[in-house]
Amino acid sequence: MAEDFDVIVIGAGPGGYVCAIRAAQLGLRVACVEKRETLGGTCLNIGCIPSKALLHSSAVFAHARHGLADHGVVVDGVRLDLARMQARKAEVVEANTKGIEFLFRKHKITWLRGAGRIAAPNRVEVAGAPHTTRHIVIATGSESSPLFGVAVDERRILSSTGALALDRVPAHLVVIGAGVIGLELGSVWRRLGAEVTVIEYLDRIVPGLDSEVARHFRRALTKQGMRFRLGERVTGTNATDTGVTVSLEPVKGGAAETLAADTVLLAIGRRPHVEGLGLDAVGVALDERGRVRTDAGFATSVPGIYAIGDAIAGPMLAHKAEEEGVALAELLTGRAGHVNYTAIPGVIYTAPEVASLGETEDSLKAAGVAYNVGKFPFTANGRARAMGETEGFVKLVADKATDRLLGAHIIGAEAGTLIAELVTALEFGASAEDVARTCHAHPSLNEAVKEAALAVDGRALHI
Ligand SMILES: Cc1cc2nc3c(=O)[nH]c(=O)nc-3n(C[C@H](O)[C@H](O)[C@H](O)COP(=O)(O)OP(=O)(O)OC[C@H]3O[C@@H](n4cnc5c(N)ncnc54)[C@H](O)[C@@H]3O)c2cc1C
Repeated sequence: MAEDFDVIVIGAGPGGYVCAIRAAQLGLRVACVEKRETLGGTCLNIGCIPSKALLHSSAVFAHARHGLADHGVVVDGVRLDLARMQARKAEVVEANTKGIEFLFRKHKITWLRGAGRIAAPNRVEVAGAPHTTRHIVIATGSESSPLFGVAVDERRILSSTGALALDRVPAHLVVIGAGVIGLELGSVWRRLGAEVTVIEYLDRIVPGLDSEVARHFRRALTKQGMRFRLGERVTGTNATDTGVTVSLEPVKGGAAETLAADTVLLAIGRRPHVEGLGLDAVGVALDERGRVRTDAGFATSVPGIYAIGDAIAGPMLAHKAEEEGVALAELLTGRAGHVNYTAIPGVIYTAPEVASLGETEDSLKAAGVAYNVGKFPFTANGRARAMGETEGFVKLVADKATDRLLGAHIIGAEAGTLIAELVTALEFGASAEDVARTCHAHPSLNEAVKEAALAVDGRALHI
């Protein structure tokens, strides 16, 4: 008997919904299982999109309060309407999730509503009903990692989901974890008036980020009033009706201490979400960190079952999940789907923004690769001065022998947008010289990218 579908994708996040769309474009009969009331996964509902809506709104508020006078714009009596800010965020989320529903209708993708369980390599059960298929794609994403002694109640002790939905500005927010999510959400509430203390186990912020950029970033956030407790371990929290006591101690040993907060955000990372899928019974192997084990073509240990996105190894980023979704759909139809993992940018949407791509000085030193560095500060960029956005710099690393671009790191206004030309350059195997000899519009922030590329060869023009 013919199967009901060619592909059933479990999970409608950026990995799953994009895989479903691409598979439908290629002529496959596709269903996507989603247990949430709305499509779009973590990213659209409780991740990228709502966090960026609040980051933008809070930046507008902070700018109206502190950033306009220098431009000769005098605004009296700026007030916060948090209820409206949150309502706007909900509208942005709804527009995006409804957009995916439209795309599903357009591509004739069947939305199977409910939790999916893999009953056999060609059968998925959704709310008790069986559906047969030639291929199954696990795209069930991730969830916040727990921490022993810190019980998230989404009232006083929050995960990122609770921190996106607060209806009051905390007096003192303690953020556990100086990673991307902790710093973005800490920034939102700091701008809206909260005292923010970030506790981090390591002696630096954002592990993996170029350490020079990370140091500059910490200084910039400290100037905004964020406090950092680095090299400290949280040993427990005690929530009452009025607040939370956070217990911490130095990682290297020393006296334990307590901090009084009214709200705590636990943001120590995310872990794959594969519970309830029936992977054990069907024989899908996981790796040592609980991620679905896959080969270079996203195949799991069971023929016919594939996995993509946050549920497998690699950076937990929406655009990485999307690239994998496209590549897998193409592989399933006999095409040459492929993801270039060396060309995946990462962006932190704080002020200043931070964008990074490829190798860092630290990773090249560790690998024993000889490299040249080119740096250019935004203080020397005309457009940045005109905008009043002179914080930060562009830093490129290129192979010493061949000049091939190996990495790019930008801290400053619109870093997340500026990095795109360098992703393209890296993807095309460009040298720093290629970027340096490309004409960049004047005056633009992008000229700092060109100058950094010139600086790799010691010939920046405007410094
Ligand atoms: C606060 C926050 C901010 C973020 N900001 C960014 C950012 O700015 N940029 C960026 O690139 N990334 C960001 N991320 C990460 C990004 O959201 C994830 O990398 C991305 O969503 C992963 O996509 P995915 O498709 O693998 O899984 P997900 O988006 O997690 O989607 C998985 C879906 O599967 C569903 N599901 C799970 N199990 C089942 C089941 N058994 N049956 C049916 N459905 C199921 C879930 O309900 C979910 O909707 C952020 C994350 C958070 C939490």
